[in-house]
Amino acid sequence: MTARFPGVQMSLVTTPVSQLAVCAQCAGTRVTRITMTLTDGSVVDFASCHTCEHKTWTEAGTGLDVSDVLRKAQKVRA
Ligand SMILES: [Zn+2]
Repeated sequence: MTARFPGVQMSLVTTPVSQLAVCAQCAGTRVTRITMTLTDGSVVDFASCHTCEHKTWTEAGTGLDVSDVLRKAQKVRA
């Protein structure tokens, strides 16, 4: 049996969204939110708004700058 969700676009399958994300920029609800682990082990949430293209990085509820994310992602293990 296949579950069907009317009105929900299923072409992009990511981590199930348990709570509705809201864009901090435009308060829109067309936000894709995924959780990923960076190279240094940091678990961060990435949210991207489809309405205004505002992107947000968050680690444990604290906002991250893009430069912080890049630095964490590029860290090489010795
Ligand atoms: Zn937005």
